[in-house]
Formats: sequence, structure tokens, C-alpha cells
Amino acid sequence: MSLDPATAPPQEFEQRTGVDLLNDPRLNKGAAFTPEEREQLGLRGLLPPRYAPIEEQVARVYENFSYKQSDLMKYIYLIGLLDRNETLFYYLLDQHLEEMMPIVYTPTVGLGCQKYSRIFRRPRGICISLDDKGQVDALLANWPYKDIRITVVTDGERILGLGDLGLNGMGIPVGKLNLYVAAAGIDPSHTLPVCLDVGTNNAELLGDPLYLGIDRKRERGPAYDELVDEFVWAVHKRWPGCIIQFEDFGNRNAFRFLAKYREKTVAFNDDIQGTGAVTLAGLLGALRITGQKLSDQRIVTLGAGEAGIGIAESIIAGMKDEGIDREQARACFWFVDSKGLVTQDRYDQLAEHKKPFARDDAPIYDLAEVVKQVHPTMLLGVSGQPGKFTQQIVTIMAQAVERPIIFALSNPTSKAECTAEQAYAWTEGRAIFASGSPFDPVLYKGKNYRSGQGNNVYIFPGVGLGTIVGGATMVTDSMFHVAANALAAEVPQEVLDEGSVYPAMSDIKKVSMKIACEVVREVYRLGISRLPEPDDIEKTVADYVWKAEYKSLV
Ligand code: NAD
Repeated sequence: MSLDPATAPPQEFEQRTGVDLLNDPRLNKGAAFTPEEREQLGLRGLLPPRYAPIEEQVARVYENFSYKQSDLMKYIYLIGLLDRNETLFYYLLDQHLEEMMPIVYTPTVGLGCQKYSRIFRRPRGICISLDDKGQVDALLANWPYKDIRITVVTDGERILGLGDLGLNGMGIPVGKLNLYVAAAGIDPSHTLPVCLDVGTNNAELLGDPLYLGIDRKRERGPAYDELVDEFVWAVHKRWPGCIIQFEDFGNRNAFRFLAKYREKTVAFNDDIQGTGAVTLAGLLGALRITGQKLSDQRIVTLGAGEAGIGIAESIIAGMKDEGIDREQARACFWFVDSKGLVTQDRYDQLAEHKKPFARDDAPIYDLAEVVKQVHPTMLLGVSGQPGKFTQQIVTIMAQAVERPIIFALSNPTSKAECTAEQAYAWTEGRAIFASGSPFDPVLYKGKNYRSGQGNNVYIFPGVGLGTIVGGATMVTDSMFHVAANALAAEVPQEVLDEGSVYPAMSDIKKVSMKIACEVVREVYRLGISRLPEPDDIEKTVADYVWKAEYKSLV
């Protein structure tokens, strides 16, 4: 297997014919098989007689999509299309990305996961259960594609803000990898979604006769770590250089797996590092509006988990760019978790990842009181707790600062700490607001406000593409840092003028390309590539990119 994206041979496909070919979503073209292909590949009579090019097919599937009455039905329809004809699925997604992103990913993917076992049609990806311990190599060998460059893996414990969904979490790796393809042109045959089914503590699922996961409580003992370890090394052995993206693990495991594997394999955690980078980029955009420095901010964060700590680490890197040291940067943070302000007097009871942010302050149990005392310039919500940014809290904040920067990042929409409408109404339109899941534009006192969506999709596809093309042997925090800066630089002034701190979703491919090029540069700057440095990075990145178009099969 060649690891050089520019010279790698195409995936080896068996020459399929007839019904077998129509049933292979990677190769199926439906009515777009040409007369010559129909003749030579045993398709005559198996298709309606008229040849329909992809431009016509996409109109048909979009009409079908539009008939669907609910977002869940739209999701089921799109996944069905993916399972029938991948090229057409990505062609459709490309044409309607802004409309379909909230269906294939948050918020609708959350519902898709909650219902996964009930709406299950066809398998996609690899499911590895505790019962497969010792056999992971063999399971991976069943995957038909030989050149996997990125796998997204979950154990289903913390799906979005929805908690433990066990095997039903499989919808997340599938959705994330859809976005890698749609936003950065990763070749779909280079991707592998994986769910590690280690049981679930979700009583509703365990009591559901249609639940497809193993019927047991979540494994917490050594068998769990052994399975994860077996998986990581099996991937590393079978596809050396393959990115392993840890996704939606509970935070007790997410931090330690990141620490354990990040320097030994090409592993990263999007919930920690991707969230950090996308939030930093949005905050840098907000500061372009206020004209302030990052290191002058007072930052109150509700939630001190993967997202909260990842965000803080990214911001600290941004503050260090302004010339202050880590200790000074850390002093700008006040974390509030379910037990109140994260302080030194709780030190012994704090999870490891929170300890560096424990303040030497008197205990405060209430977010409103923290806001009253700190006068934050930035209020960030990553608690998964809806409605926690109350009118009282937002009003207190807005009394002390001219342009309150409020990011209610919890997903899906139902979990947001406040809505866009509330943020604008409670601050007389002065808030600079962003959220994790999208909100419609808000009309407030005759002015239109378009809030930004701090969606990790602005970051991870570009980082993944840069990691692959750069042949990186690991994924570093600095690669996410250059990605955040590249994203922040891509927000046009007119977008900031409307109140949004992120570029339009329709620009996502352009953004991902820029990020990928910066990541490739960083990989060579760090000297962690296994490939010779290309003369023209932009061209090498562009040459890798997969396009949703049919290739001739004869
Ligand atoms: P996590 O489980 O690691 O952390 C959650 C944190 O919230 C913990 O520190 C917990 O103590 C705290 N918390 C729980 N209840 C609380 C309460 N009542 N008051 C205050 N704090 C409370 O989860 P995570 O990975 O950090 O994700 C948290 C949320 O952020 C999720 O809703 C997730 O969807 C969202 N998120 C958004 C983005 C994005 O918008 N780009 C990215 C990642 C995560």
C-alpha cells in the first residue's frame, strides 16, 4: 500500500456485474450507467431504458428529499441514498450542503442515533463488541477496502449532549465521515466508521427489544481498555499512518486515550481538540468586532469536560501568541461545573483535566454569582444543560460589558444554554452570539442578526486532509492551532458585520483547503512527515481531493 496520496493506486475493486454491481453503493450509478456499460456489465433489462445523467438524477433525489415531512424522515432518506449510490449522495450533499448539514449531522444525527436500532436498514462500518476481543484483526480484515486513511471511532458513551447511546452511537462516525468527504473531499473509500460496543448504561435501550447492541451494562474494567488497545494497534498494523479520530467517548476515557495514543499513533480527539480550535477561531472573529485582545478577556465557561478544557487549551495557545505565558493565560479562566466554581478547595475531588484550572478563590455554587463577581467578557456554554444562561445571567453580564460574547455550544439545539433570540433580546442586540447547532436568523427591533455556528466541521475535515496529504506521523495541538488561525482569517468582514463569526457553510470547501495547506506546512515545519515535502502544497492538496462524479467502469 502506498501512503503517498498523489501516487497511491486506486482501491482494488472486484469487477462486479449485474445485480451485484447495482447493490454496491460505491460503484452503483443507477440510471446513469451508459449504454456501453449496461451492455458490457450485464445490466441490460435491470434498469429503466433511458440513460439519466447525474444532473437529472440529483433533481429527482432532491425532489424526493423535499417530500419528506420530518427531519428524521429526511435523515433516513439520505442514509438510504448513501447506501444505494454514494456518488449521487455526495453530489446531492455538495449542491445543498447548507440545507443538508443539519440533517446528516447535528442536530438531526442526534435523533438518528437515538432511533438507530429502530430505523436500521443496512450496516455501514465495523461494529466491534466486547465479545470480539482477541479477534479485532479478523474483523478489520472483513472490511473490503484496502487503503483506509481515516477511521472515526466511538464507544457511544457521550453522544453529542445526549449521553450514553451504546451501539446506537454508530450514527456519529458515519455522519462525521460523510462530512470529511463533503467538506474536504476525502475519498469515501479511504474512510471507516467504527463503533466499539462495550454495553450501555442507558436503561431505556437495554429494555428495548429492538436495540441492536449487546445486552449488558457498560464495561468499566480492564476488558474495556484491552479492547480499545487491541483496536488501535490493529488499525495501526493493517493501515499504517491511518488517522484514528476518537469521537464522543465519555470524558473519563477521552482524555486518557488521547494522552496514551497521540504520540504513538496518528490519533486525535475532535471533541477536545477540534472543539477547541473551532471555538478559538470564532472568538478571534468576535475580537475582530470588539477590537480587543484575547489576553485581555475574562472567560467564564459552564462545563469543564472535553469541550471546555479543549477550548481553554486552544485559547491559551492563542494568548501565548500575544506574548503572555501559560500561568497568566490560565488566570483568565473561571470554570463552573455541576458543583459550582472549580476551585482549589475541591482539588482532591476534581477530575485530572480540571485541576490545572482550579482557582484559588472562595467557593461559589451559582453561575449567576460567578458572573456577578467576575464580569466576564466571554461566556461559554459546554455543559450539555439547556437554558442555563438565564435572562438574569445574560442581563448581569450585559450590564458590565459593551459587547458580551456568548457562545452556547451545547448540542443538539435542545441542549443549548440559551437561544440566539434570547441572547440578542436580553442584551438589546449587543451580544456576539454563536451556538453549537444552527439557529435561524433573528429579527430584533428591525435588524437582522445572523449568529454563527461553532461547528467542528469547519476544522476537522481540513485537519484530516492536511494530515493525510502531509503524511503526518502524529496529530499535534499546533496543527489544530494553525487550523484555528486559518479559519479565523477566512471570515469576511461583511459576515462579521452581520454578527456571525464563522464563514458561510457554502464556503466550507474553500476553508478546508486553506486549513489543509496550513496543516501540511505545520507537519513539515515540525518534521513529522513520512513523505518528501511537495514543491507545491496547494497543488498536492488539490490533487488528492475526491470529487463526486461517476468514473467509467468499462
Ligand atoms: P463532557 O461530559 O466531557 O462535559 C460536560 C461538562 O458539563 C462536565 O464538566 C460537567 O461537570 C458539566 N456539567 C454537567 N451538568 C452541569 C450543570 N448542571 N451545570 C454546570 N456544569 C455541568 O461533555 P463535552 O464533550 O465537554 O460536551 C459538552 C457539551 O458541549 C455537549 O452538549 C456537546 O454537544 C457540546 N459540544 C459542542 C461542540 C461545538 O459546538 N462545536 C463541540 C463539542 C461539544
